[in-house]
Amino acid sequence: MVVAAEKQIGAVVFFGPPAAGKGTQARQMAKRLGIPHISTGDMIRAEVAAGTTLGQEARAIMEKGELIPDEIVNRMVRERLKQPDCRRGFVLDGYPRTRGQAQALENMLQGNDEPMTVFNIQLPAEDAVRRITGRRTCPKCGTIYNLYGHPPRDPGRCDLDQTPLVMRTDDREEVIRGRLECYERDTRPVVDYFRQQGQAIHEIDGSLPAEAISDRLCRILSPA
Ligand code: AMP
Repeated sequence: MVVAAEKQIGAVVFFGPPAAGKGTQARQMAKRLGIPHISTGDMIRAEVAAGTTLGQEARAIMEKGELIPDEIVNRMVRERLKQPDCRRGFVLDGYPRTRGQAQALENMLQGNDEPMTVFNIQLPAEDAVRRITGRRTCPKCGTIYNLYGHPPRDPGRCDLDQTPLVMRTDDREEVIRGRLECYERDTRPVVDYFRQQGQAIHEIDGSLPAEAISDRLCRILSPA
């Protein structure tokens, strides 16, 4: 019997300012491809919820809209990528966010000869602010809703498991500006860094409806 080799997907990386739609698209893509969705924001929120030492330190940083130190986040991602479910590939959401993290990721991928696909979802700052204030998340399954663009059927409850939806503490208006500034200062230069390294960057218009964006992403990853 001939067993077809599993298609190697490698690292799929999403860049974009807060609320550009990275989380929604990354989650859907991972599900469709059958590979893990790795969100450093979710990993850190899990530490906060569990009340670990790391979580207690991270909470104050997150609530100011600032970044957790590189060595902590790099260690979390390095450990996660060693898990067997990452063998065919994985979708990174919210990582890398600094030049130091980008270089750490390159080291993690080195030697594996893994392809990397990079999407940069663009969204003007004013649209990001409006979207963030309407964002609600299901704390149980992680589904993301938006009161303006993608509301739940029953207001305040998840469509999938009826869990009451929550607003992230770092989605408050006073924190949002700081997060956007942080994106411009630390993360946008990472996209330029990858481009300078010869990496193709797929630019995506984040103001399009979510379905149009996911169609576009699918066509890029699996051209007909
Ligand atoms: P996110 O869910 O990706 O918007 O992340 C929420 C918050 O978690 C960020 O504002 C940071 O405080 C922290 N965080 C998430 N990912 C990273 C990362 N790669 N590096 C540093 N801090 C991060």
